[in-house]
Amino acid sequence: MKKVSFVQSNNQRHWVGNGFPVRSVFSYNDRAAEFSPFLLLDYAGPATFEPTTERKGVGEHPHRGFETVTIVYDGEVEHRDSTGGGGIIGPGDVQWMTAAGGLVHEEFHGPNFAKTGGAFEMAQLWVNLPAKHKLAEPGYQGIANAQIPHVELPDGAGSLRVIAGDYNGTRGAARTFSPVNVWDVTLKAGSRATFRVPDGYTTAVFVMRGGIAIADGKTVGEADIAVLERSGDEFEIEATADTKLLILNGEPFAEPVVGYGPFVMNSRREIEQAITDFQNGKMGRIAVHV
Ligand code: MN
Repeated sequence: MKKVSFVQSNNQRHWVGNGFPVRSVFSYNDRAAEFSPFLLLDYAGPATFEPTTERKGVGEHPHRGFETVTIVYDGEVEHRDSTGGGGIIGPGDVQWMTAAGGLVHEEFHGPNFAKTGGAFEMAQLWVNLPAKHKLAEPGYQGIANAQIPHVELPDGAGSLRVIAGDYNGTRGAARTFSPVNVWDVTLKAGSRATFRVPDGYTTAVFVMRGGIAIADGKTVGEADIAVLERSGDEFEIEATADTKLLILNGEPFAEPVVGYGPFVMNSRREIEQAITDFQNGKMGRIAVHV
């Protein structure tokens, strides 16, 4: 059985644009190696928004060198990018955007949600790309809730959605560049579940709602993330309340992580190149609204 390596908390919220009240759960600025291949997790909400005619969110900005994965739990997010990718996603839907060689995008509340207001909750995960794929073609996977395989856990413990990778032979919905498992898990209070993962991979368990005791009995509360030791291929979670989790598992890369805002590369030189390419318009522009 795997043991807990460390637990990280952050209850400070900051605004991303004027639409996303975010807690930074982890970031590559801190412990990049321990979280590899994951770079960052921002958890936005739960929050309530009033009806508005204003566009709330973040305007045009670039990314290069990784993928952004947006999972909506409540509310609606609209995305457009310079490759022509885009869409509106609602509760249960996921957008898996491959920035890779570079693109420009915008992220706003969806128009229907803005009009009605209401509960808003989402998470955005950044997944690193191996050095050899950092300059690959950008891409966009809009994944509807109905396309995501849903698995009932043994003994009525709860359920699991395979967003990416594999869960006990059930293949996830998203295509990935390196081995990554992203599981969206719901557990009933008092239940226990055992999860099998490849030995040597990074495993992080983020508690969105509720609370758990994990591995050797360590308790993990709301908005906390537990990182498990790499060795071992199994861990057990006991839900101490009705719980929602995001389990992240992936093969770590032994490559340097050098980031600057929206660019994450392997060296300073590649960051400077990214800035120059963006300034010269090489990451494109978003088509003007008509
Ligand atoms: Mn972005």
